[in-house]
Amino acid sequence: MNFYNQSIQFSQKEIAPHAAQYDQDAVFPKKIFDKIGEEGYFSLLIPTKYGGQGKGLSEHAQVCMAFAEGSATVALCYMMHNVALMCLSNHADETLKQQIFTDVIQNKKLLALAYSEVGTGTHFYKPEITAHYTDKGVILNGAKSMVTSAEYASYYLVLSPAKDPEKINNWIVPKETKGLSFALSTWDGLGMRANVSCPMELNDLFLDESYKIGAEGGAMEQVFTTVASFFLTGLASVYSGLSTNIYQEALNHATTRKYSESVSLANIETVQIHLSNLYTKMMASRTMAFEAARSYDAGEADAVLKIISARIFASESVIENATIAMRVGGGKSYNKQTPLERLLRDSFAGHIMAPSVDVLKVWLGKAVSGQQIP
Ligand SMILES: Cc1cc2nc3c(=O)[nH]c(=O)nc-3n(C[C@H](O)[C@H](O)[C@H](O)COP(=O)(O)OP(=O)(O)OC[C@H]3O[C@@H](n4cnc5c(N)ncnc54)[C@H](O)[C@@H]3O)c2cc1C
Repeated sequence: MNFYNQSIQFSQKEIAPHAAQYDQDAVFPKKIFDKIGEEGYFSLLIPTKYGGQGKGLSEHAQVCMAFAEGSATVALCYMMHNVALMCLSNHADETLKQQIFTDVIQNKKLLALAYSEVGTGTHFYKPEITAHYTDKGVILNGAKSMVTSAEYASYYLVLSPAKDPEKINNWIVPKETKGLSFALSTWDGLGMRANVSCPMELNDLFLDESYKIGAEGGAMEQVFTTVASFFLTGLASVYSGLSTNIYQEALNHATTRKYSESVSLANIETVQIHLSNLYTKMMASRTMAFEAARSYDAGEADAVLKIISARIFASESVIENATIAMRVGGGKSYNKQTPLERLLRDSFAGHIMAPSVDVLKVWLGKAVSGQQIP
């Protein structure tokens, strides 16, 4: 079954009606995530041999896009769960996979990514927290700067320096681990307000080696294969879904807002051109995201180039679309009488999320000309 069709029905019925409330409350939307878990979406990418649905990047893209058409902030939190799961699936040992996948499937547990730090910002693969290795495990100290789904998620993927300081490790940290805390009150995002992407503190946090994902010092490869592919395609899908929502709201406004003589905005040629531009960019963005995912699933050599370009295009075009849509929305949208100002605020998260669009453009330029990235 095409997961987009199934997920868009769920999104329209269960997510979209509450999108404005999620934005207003700026707290993690626990109720809808409990429902997303009950519907089985948490296990989308878990291999069938562990009881999951065994799906890949295409289905990840389809569900993220459909959810984002209802609420981009819900889709973004969900997207990160899938990235973390896929990292485990591709790199963790059997015992860790069994433990986490069983907890996700049976107890509907959510995963999150705690990677970014103040000292390295958008270059999140250069962790500066300290890792003190003992014969029993590791003691982590420091802070992560922006952790989506903070406190609701049951597990957090954390990058730290490895025993060889030139390398890095990827850990999975259960929420109840001693020494873990969140600064929830600092969250006041411009958009994506249900993300609750706040700082996470690690204070003498001890983990034994069983919580390390993959081989000692092997996390850089995890970041630049699995994490990058699922995260960047996920972002492309979320922002394409948001672009679709923006187009639909602008179209709705243009056709329903009528002047005294019964002429709607959609009867005006300039507005028709705006609608045309919105539609074209929205369709291009969706098509690029789905094509990148298809190419990856098919094992094509240039899939990574398609993934990076889909993420760049979706993140830039959604801001352009939100800006044009606000023009179509006129004073009513400016005065928050349509959802367009909320969608405009949401659109601004895309280009700054790590690795930022500016960084990715340099990487893509290097990659197409045969140079090493990063
Ligand atoms: C809604 C939201 C949710 C988030 N959720 C998470 C999460 O769950 N987990 C997580 O780990 N992080 C998360 N983040 C953090 C995010 O991914 C980035 O790490 C963070 O936004 C970077 O912020 P910064 O201010 O430190 O950027 P900086 O590193 O200060 O970069 C600012 C800008 O400088 C420019 N720049 C910097 N370096 C270069 C370069 N080498 N080349 C070109 N341009 C450059 C770019 O324009 C960049 O946008 C989230 C962010 C947002 C907005």
